[in-house]
Amino acid sequence: MAHSYHHAVSSARKFGGTPNDYIEIHTWLDRSKEIIADFRHRALHHHCQGVFLAETMFGVTITNSDGRDVPVRLIAEQHIREDLGRIPSFADWVRCIKPESWMGRIGTKLDDIDTMSSTTETGDA
Ligand SMILES: [Zn+2]
Repeated sequence: MAHSYHHAVSSARKFGGTPNDYIEIHTWLDRSKEIIADFRHRALHHHCQGVFLAETMFGVTITNSDGRDVPVRLIAEQHIREDLGRIPSFADWVRCIKPESWMGRIGTKLDDIDTMSSTTETGDA
C-alpha cells in the first residue's frame, strides 16, 4: 500500500467511520518519508515499538465518526501489516543495517575530559 489515505480507507472499512477518522495516525506512520523517500523510511516506525509509540502519540483509543472507540494499536498494526505482511520488531530492521566503521567509532573517553578545570578557572558552578 503506497499512500496514507489508502490505509485510512482500509481502516474505515475495518473499523467503521470515515477515512478522515484515521488519516492522522497513518500520516504519522508514513511521515518518515520526509527523511528517506523509499521503503527504508519504514524502519523508523513500522515495527512493534512503533505501534506502542502511536498509542503514546494518539491515546489508547480514538473515537471514530460512528461513535465507536477504536484502539490506536490496532490501527497501527493494520497499517504495518498492509505494508509489510507482518509486524517486525525493531531488531528485525537493525539486523539489516550493514555495519560501517564510523558507527562503532570510540570517541573521547570521559576520563580525558577535564570538567573541573573549566569551572574552577571561571568560577562558574
Ligand atoms: Zn506505511
